[in-house]
Amino acid sequence: MSEAVTEYQGKASMEKITSLAKRRGFVFQSSEIYGGQSGAWDYGPLGVELKNRIAQNWWKEMTQLNESIVGLDAAILMHPRVWEASGHVENFTDPLVDCKQCKARFRADQIPEANLAKKQCPECGGDLTDTRRFNLMFKTNIGPLEDAANTIYLRPETAQGIYVNYKNIIQSNRMKIPFGIAQIGKAFRNEIVTKNFIFRTCEFEQMEMQYFVKPGTDEEWFNEWRRRRWAYYEKIGIRMDHLRWHRHGPGELAHYAKDAYDIEYLFPMGWKELEGIHNRSSYDLSRHTEYSGKDLQYIDQDNHLEGTPRFIPFIIETSAGLTRTLLMVLCDAYDEEKVGAQGSPEEMRTVLRFHPNLAPITVAVLPLMKKDGLAELAQDIRKELKEDFATDYDQSGAIGRRYRRQDEAGTPFCVTVDYESKEKGTVTLRFRDSMEQVRVSRSDLAQRIRSEIKGYTRVSG
Ligand code: ATP
Repeated sequence: MSEAVTEYQGKASMEKITSLAKRRGFVFQSSEIYGGQSGAWDYGPLGVELKNRIAQNWWKEMTQLNESIVGLDAAILMHPRVWEASGHVENFTDPLVDCKQCKARFRADQIPEANLAKKQCPECGGDLTDTRRFNLMFKTNIGPLEDAANTIYLRPETAQGIYVNYKNIIQSNRMKIPFGIAQIGKAFRNEIVTKNFIFRTCEFEQMEMQYFVKPGTDEEWFNEWRRRRWAYYEKIGIRMDHLRWHRHGPGELAHYAKDAYDIEYLFPMGWKELEGIHNRSSYDLSRHTEYSGKDLQYIDQDNHLEGTPRFIPFIIETSAGLTRTLLMVLCDAYDEEKVGAQGSPEEMRTVLRFHPNLAPITVAVLPLMKKDGLAELAQDIRKELKEDFATDYDQSGAIGRRYRRQDEAGTPFCVTVDYESKEKGTVTLRFRDSMEQVRVSRSDLAQRIRSEIKGYTRVSG
């Protein structure tokens, strides 16, 4: 393991990140005043901005920059037959064991094999129950009657909404294979163990893209999507030595998968899945053909001279958790460093080194003093900037303190307004990562910030 990685694990712990997230209004425990609801979290003012920014960035990458991909926003509630066709009713289960003594609950595949063999609790040594299968789908009823005929599920993944709309989208938008459908939305899983903050929750959001390809070209597209998704993380400034591939072995492959890789990230608690890239073969559309009775074959109009070939497309899926990506971005951005001018006492600063395209606040405008018209001038500059950037304004406390607050929020640029600003029309532009400051004329400010964002590379940490 590289030195940088070890250093990171020394600095960033889940406790520190959870506490910073609460302190600065990124993430709060759900229903906290009632003692909290496990498996659910609320995104505060900075958290919702960060989440939206990540979602927009992914959406742009998938749709705006990729003419063969269109978007969709399907309903969470779907026809219950969908989940029979998808295999979720039958297969979407986790093995569950309980400790009879301390009542702890575990996923049997996540405790050491020796404990499982001896049926011994890994926490207290007590006796474990037999392993039983537990379906992760949340079940409820639609309409006033609580009977089996009215059962409906909260979707455990967004992908099925894409498969059932694939024909609609071909017809309405004249899509030709290969093409993709992207979707961001909520998913729900009744997870047995929810820990590590927002890593695994019962309510979460996914960013999924399903790419429909001709059978026989699937392996090529699978490799291409693996390449693109890896390159994407580099583009948003993630430390690449914190990412690795994990290929699913034969025992791990899901029932639908021909091949599957996870991109794993080195979270403070270790390497964990961030995104899955799957070759789902023709499984999904074949099953929906069978269960719906509708012909979901693709008709290759361009090849009608060859007798209009029809086929069930293969699907390459890229499936990332939005809320899990947010956790990854927080962990990756987290840094602590010693600062302080020579001779002055050393001070630690906590800084979130977000890529400026993801940062919840892009520019903070800070008047050096409230008096002498500096506050008014700073407000005026903020007004000008807020058309183009997410801005903040802060006039309270010493300037050093205000910089620290912005560092903790991950704000990449601070604009300080002082007496020279009044006299010469210039401001100080301060960079979060290097803490360097440069003098910029007010009229060049927006352009300068735009070009700094475009050329951003992480300098340290
Ligand atoms: P696991 O085996 O860890 O339960 P999975 O392999 O079933 O996860 P997928 O079904 O492939 O996960 O889901 C795709 C992505 O959705 C995951 O890579 C992850 O980022 C996200 N995800 C899945 N389950 C959760 C959850 N409970 N909370 C937050 N994000 C999740």
